[in-house]
Amino acid sequence: MPRPIRAIIHQNALAHNLQIARKHASQHEVFAVIKANAYGHGIERVYPALKTADGFALLDIEEAKRLRALGWTGPILLLEGIFSAQDLFDCTQYQLSFTVHSALQLQWVRQHPEPAQFDIFLKMNSGMNRLGFQPQHYREVWQTLKSCAAVNNLTHMMHFSDADGERLGQSGIDAQFKIFEDTVQDLPGERSICNSAAILRHGSQLSSKTVRAGILLYGSSPDFPQHSIQDWDLQPSMSLRSEIIAIQNVKPKQTVGYGSTFQADQAMRIGVVACGYADGYQRISATGTPVLVDGIRTRTIGRVSMDMLAVDLTEIEDALIGSEVVLWGKSRFGSILPIDEVAATSDTVGYELMCGVTARVPFFIETQG
Ligand SMILES: *Cc1c(COP(=O)(O)O)cnc(C)c1O
Repeated sequence: MPRPIRAIIHQNALAHNLQIARKHASQHEVFAVIKANAYGHGIERVYPALKTADGFALLDIEEAKRLRALGWTGPILLLEGIFSAQDLFDCTQYQLSFTVHSALQLQWVRQHPEPAQFDIFLKMNSGMNRLGFQPQHYREVWQTLKSCAAVNNLTHMMHFSDADGERLGQSGIDAQFKIFEDTVQDLPGERSICNSAAILRHGSQLSSKTVRAGILLYGSSPDFPQHSIQDWDLQPSMSLRSEIIAIQNVKPKQTVGYGSTFQADQAMRIGVVACGYADGYQRISATGTPVLVDGIRTRTIGRVSMDMLAVDLTEIEDALIGSEVVLWGKSRFGSILPIDEVAATSDTVGYELMCGVTARVPFFIETQG
């Protein structure tokens, strides 16, 4: 028997979550963001459920090639653009749209030696100071690209730093959106503005041809804890499941795990779970992180080790060796543990947990339920 840990990808949930994005961005084309191997899910595993999207967005040309190999003929957007002048040949061969966010990328496009029909998303740095041209230079760059024979289509693009909440005491989108609109207002061309948080919170109010839906597709709320996945009607698309492999009856004052960080103040029943930080479970998470045992909510106890962690079974009398443990996602008994709640106890976000499941964890696909 293999070790019982596994990650399950719920294709129905992915398809459902895509519909939620469509509902909030009904006037827009929805691009499914599948960077980082589809947020750790595996591009090949999510593709059947997401192929009704209007396009896909990712970072890596190798991932784009995998998507083409699956039969996808629609738009693919490279969110960080090209990393060398050479990449432009792949953009032509595989029909990839790409962002232009830097002067160097602009130069590569202008100096491209072959006739081309590039579809470019010109990125403005509207305040996040990560990628893009400053508003005062943006129009000049736009003119330069517009007059470039290799450029077929130009989309105005920006990215919000705080669409999930507030920014410097104001609504998280107002200042950046105003800078963007003031800069592009009279220029022709479509816009691409919203990430998941902006789609759910501001989708109807921001006009944008394409939206870029990432984390919401994977059943994590972009503005947790203000809103949970239940509030947004999203479903978990990844479950990390394992089993109880040992049970210890602990007396008052006895300790559990490395460093004896947990000491029982009463008699307890402790389950040892085949899941540790070498599987991608956060070591930093302390006693009290929620888990489901046979679908019933309980908590972790003590430190997470490389291959194991401990859970409190005191109230779950029916739990035995072999009982199902859900670290995040959905139990086969139907109950749900949102990844956002698990992430919050380790001071991180669902994105990091789903991207961090390690190579030794086998993945399975579930098409029903
Ligand atoms: C990752 C990314 C997105 C998707 O963000 P989510 O918060 O996962 O929806 C959208 N746009 C850009 C430019 C990105 O890099």
